Amino acid sequence: NANVKTQPQFNEAELAQQMRNLRSEFPLLTRTVHGKSLVYFDNSATVQKPDAVIDSMNRYYREQNANIHRGVHYLSGEATDAYEKAREQVRQFINARSSKEIIFVRGTTEAINLVANTFGRQLKAGDEVIVSMMEHHANIVPWQMLRDQLGIVLKVAPVDEDGELDMAAFNALIGERTKLISVTHISNALGTINPVKQIVQLAHLHEIPVLLDGAQAVPHLAVDVQDLDCDFYAFSGHKMYGPTGVGILYGKEALLEQMPPWQGGGDMIDLVTFEKTTYADLPHKFEAGTPAIAEGIALGVAAEWLTNVGLDKVAAWEDVLLKYATQQMLEIPGMRIIGNAQHKAGVISFVMDGVHAQDLGVLVDQLGVAIRTGHHCAMPVLHHFGVNATARASFALYNTKDEVDSFIAAMHRARDMLL
Ligand code: PLP
Repeated sequence: NANVKTQPQFNEAELAQQMRNLRSEFPLLTRTVHGKSLVYFDNSATVQKPDAVIDSMNRYYREQNANIHRGVHYLSGEATDAYEKAREQVRQFINARSSKEIIFVRGTTEAINLVANTFGRQLKAGDEVIVSMMEHHANIVPWQMLRDQLGIVLKVAPVDEDGELDMAAFNALIGERTKLISVTHISNALGTINPVKQIVQLAHLHEIPVLLDGAQAVPHLAVDVQDLDCDFYAFSGHKMYGPTGVGILYGKEALLEQMPPWQGGGDMIDLVTFEKTTYADLPHKFEAGTPAIAEGIALGVAAEWLTNVGLDKVAAWEDVLLKYATQQMLEIPGMRIIGNAQHKAGVISFVMDGVHAQDLGVLVDQLGVAIRTGHHCAMPVLHHFGVNATARASFALYNTKDEVDSFIAAMHRARDMLL
């Protein structure tokens, strides 16, 4: 697939050593749970934070706390500069053309809701939005709400038995009334890395804009929005080693300019009278009220930290863990891995014959292993595979092969106890 960059070759032993060194920057990973060393494999839900991010949050409240964009006083200026520096760090992180294209929001969910409530509000009854079968609820429900309010049509691109998009079927869904394609870059439920560059190229042949849900992509592979040429890109801070409560909507400047504001209030205005209000320029037009300042600054720190680590290395290491774990899991009797895409991130969703995912999760937790169980906010795709719930192990750069061994041993123990 020409749209997935091949990993540069790294020496596995060197990679393992580098990632082990980085692991020491994560204080939480030294703790125990139920008296056992913690093995944290719930990274698709949220990742742990490095010292650089935690220190940034601390420093802000100890030394810099003031409201931004408002005060003439020294501290307010310093906080504003730090916040705007973070916007620039995020711009560099995804290689956006301009920092005006970087909108701070609360997370991926809010980013998609922003697009639905601004770009989406301009759609007419009968206009079509295409999503895929493997979307997170955050990229389904906002469009359904719009469907109920405006009468737009939601079309769903199918997924094959390996958990890959059926591109021929996808292509066939595109029509005269398609006004937006909104798909995930990486599926949190299956790990599938979608051919998003190809999707953007296809959509642009018909002059249809594309929103990519990058929540699971930005912590795992290098994202270049100019190279992808996507029109919107949404992601969350907390999944990319930054804090909760902050995320980003990237949008092409020309598109953002045309869109009406969403939430109204302070910071997003130019002039206000009771008769008429004019709005601030980008990016502030979409940033009403006091934002998550400490979190925004720390997100900038996380973006720079991750760039310095090198996302090519992260992708290569997580791929080592994925292959190592997958191979051992397939040796467990009754194991079925849901999602076997050719291009897959470090996410393993699985079910075991005769064992309820929830019971498995509870038992391995007793052994110190944190995995996710349930529908992963992606009910439609699980139903497509005939299950209501899976267990999911997902990797981050700080995980080790030893942890995979502990996880596999815990799975065998849990299986023996449950069957
Ligand atoms: N999209 C995907 C693919 C996700 O994995 C998630 C989080 O799990 C979201 C969207 C929603 O992110 P948040 O809850 O941070 O807004």
